[in-house]
Amino acid sequence: MKIIAANWKMNGSVRFAEEFVSKINEVQTNHKVIVFPPAELLGQFQGFRYCLGAQNSAIASSGAITGESSPRILYDVGCRYVLVGHSERRTLFREDDKVVFAKWQEARNAGLIPIVCIGERRRRWDTLQKQLSRLRGQDLSQTIFAYEPVWCIGTGVTPPPEEIDDVLYFIKGLVGKQSPLLYGGSVTAENAKSILSVNNIDGVLVGGASLDIAGFSQIMQASV
Ligand code: PEP
Repeated sequence: MKIIAANWKMNGSVRFAEEFVSKINEVQTNHKVIVFPPAELLGQFQGFRYCLGAQNSAIASSGAITGESSPRILYDVGCRYVLVGHSERRTLFREDDKVVFAKWQEARNAGLIPIVCIGERRRRWDTLQKQLSRLRGQDLSQTIFAYEPVWCIGTGVTPPPEEIDDVLYFIKGLVGKQSPLLYGGSVTAENAKSILSVNNIDGVLVGGASLDIAGFSQIMQASV
């Protein structure tokens, strides 16, 4: 069983979410499926048979932080997972490793399982080491990591499977064996099977291709 996670980013609509839920509810899979819609659409997922997550959560569960999403309330409305440190948040909102650590901590306090995203710009593995430095030595038993090389997100480019395996092995050496490791970056219905066959992989985080319901159904059914 692998983890198949879908990050819609800021895409979708009420109508699309309703169609997605009704069609994906019909798809059988042995994999664990987690969908991360925009927070505004979480209410459309009542009756969804798979898991739900949030794309972002705040560094605190309550208080005066206008416009942020409380991890505790996200849990209340049915989320069990949250993305932390996605490269778009690191770049567009200047979320540094300190903020990522605070969000990871608060998400766990609220009962959410954080999926911590890490990724380098130019095949520089020391970046990954730096991004993980605050988390190393913490209790990572309820934490998932997603390796998302920035040069592969939304570009149609993926590293060769052997390279993904080498990086995941390197990450495992830093965080230990207890945390599942995902790969993300231009995963599609066409390449999912070969990526999911990588030795050290526990699943994939799918961005753009998760908005194609037929294609995402195929990824959910990839036999590995
Ligand atoms: C992402 O944004 O997490 C992602 C993996 O995007 P894409 O699949 O579109 O490259």
